Amino acid sequence: MENCVFCKIAAGLIPSTKVYEDDKILAFKDLNPQAPIHVLVIPKMHMDSLEDITEDTSAEIAYIFENIPVIAACAGIRNGYRVVSNCGPDACQTIHHLHFHILGGGKLGEKLA
Ligand code: AMP
Ligand code: ZN
Repeated sequence: MENCVFCKIAAGLIPSTKVYEDDKILAFKDLNPQAPIHVLVIPKMHMDSLEDITEDTSAEIAYIFENIPVIAACAGIRNGYRVVSNCGPDACQTIHHLHFHILGGGKLGEKLA
């Protein structure tokens, strides 16, 4: 996707602070952290949001979840974390490349919204 910031990060065209990378996924620090440790995990394959997941692409997403505990540990999260994916306007999705926020590194608030 030509004008997608996260595709550009995945391609190394925009710098990021990488936490984990393999051939399918990339995890990097959020520029505007909402928790003591805030990491974003993306599939390298472009998908707009959770709404784009199909039978053909669900294995990519399962792969992300298999690796979230590894990524959280790589990021230095030791005592629990929260995973969030904003999908669509009411959820305030701003970057339209599917991503999962991993929030941790300290006690989080009880409310989600
Ligand atoms: P969302 O509102 O779920 O679409 O979240 C997008 C997230 O991407 C926000 O938390 C931003 O702070 C973060 N973000 C935007 N641009 C960058 C970037 N170049 N590097 C790291 N994080 C970014
Ligand atoms: Zn993209």
